[in-house]
Amino acid sequence: MEYKAFLIKYAEIGTKGKNRYVFEDMLCRRISEHVAAFGDFTIRREYGRIFLEAQSGYDYEDVITALQKVFGVSGISPVVVGESLQFDDIREMAVSYIKECYDDKPHTFKVNTRRANKAYPVKSMEMNSEIGHYLLEECDNLKVDVHNPDVLLNIEIRNKVYLYSQTIKGAGGLPVGTNGRAMLLLSGGIDSPVAGYMIAKRGVELEAVYFNAPPYTSERAKQKVIDLAKLVSRYSGKIRLHIVNFTDIQLAIYEKCPHEELTIIMRRYMMKIAEELAKRNGCQALITGESIGQVASQTMHSLACTGEVCNMPVFRPCIGMDKQEIVDISERIGTYETSIQPYEDCCTIFVAKHPVTKPVIEIIKRSETKLADVIDDLMKEAVDTVEVVKAD
Ligand code: ATP
Ligand code: MG
Repeated sequence: MEYKAFLIKYAEIGTKGKNRYVFEDMLCRRISEHVAAFGDFTIRREYGRIFLEAQSGYDYEDVITALQKVFGVSGISPVVVGESLQFDDIREMAVSYIKECYDDKPHTFKVNTRRANKAYPVKSMEMNSEIGHYLLEECDNLKVDVHNPDVLLNIEIRNKVYLYSQTIKGAGGLPVGTNGRAMLLLSGGIDSPVAGYMIAKRGVELEAVYFNAPPYTSERAKQKVIDLAKLVSRYSGKIRLHIVNFTDIQLAIYEKCPHEELTIIMRRYMMKIAEELAKRNGCQALITGESIGQVASQTMHSLACTGEVCNMPVFRPCIGMDKQEIVDISERIGTYETSIQPYEDCCTIFVAKHPVTKPVIEIIKRSETKLADVIDDLMKEAVDTVEVVKAD
């Protein structure tokens, strides 16, 4: 079957009123960007409907896969386009469409005609009944069901004829760019790419930060995070990944602070640096992949203690999820295989045997005073020497 167009369906509009246009404009822009590499497409908007029309040949699977990654799209209907408005031609087009798509088993059906072109001489109701009858004559696996048909055959009469019946599920959510920007703390693990995906799905543009600890962590570990940023960017659009050299800060903490507090203190400095980079890059929030109780640094007490250093909101979309639920999402979005590659990250190298699980903020702050001489310079150095990699 040759589909010359796609009808794009969207369910949720971020906020109402004037913002509807902002939403639709952004959705169209995102759709164009996602399909640009696969052919020449134009977008036509009519009465709150979006048609994507192919002006050149293209690969069907590629385009569907690309459209399924656009947040804000709830469904995609491939459309067969006919040039002739002659009633007989439309009738034949309907029969060959049904035969090609629904020849496998018995189906109930209903025809639903819409005349966007009001000058068209045959009324919608008449079209429904005439074409319905003709289909019954031509296809012996069909039965009419006007209430709950298996196949709703939509026919739209415009300057051409549009025919569609299938809807492929889209990614849902809101178009990226309709809801500000946030800084994702992206490690090489399973959780943070999922967290980024989930926030981008609500229309938020992403930047990302990775804390690297060479030579304790390898080039491969860094490359893995770049790869993960690229995988997330297939949904979110381009991500600028800020790579922070965190080694000296980690060494200072290791040297001067109690070892059972290493992770928590390290995480507090990560959050502080992430917030500073977020401010410098126009972000309104931070994102992490934390989930309550998953590890010592993610108990309620630990989360309160790391969150305490930030003034910006910290979004933790995985917070109430079980590990398996996070894994399921990462498999579905295609980050899992990369996340499980076995390259060490900076947290695993400086971990204590018995980390605190109920850190007390006052005690942690007292330990941090031991860094007073060096930490401001080290933080400034870390932020000033950040390496930016574009992932898209
Ligand atoms: P993930 O699977 O996302 O790595 P995790 O289960 O390994 O998470 P932690 O190592 O405790 O959990 O990290 C919690 C969160 O802190 C991560 O989800 C991520 O947002 C952030 N984070 C941890 N390490 C780094 C790092 N090296 N660079 C950037 N962010 C990090
Ligand atoms: Mg991790």
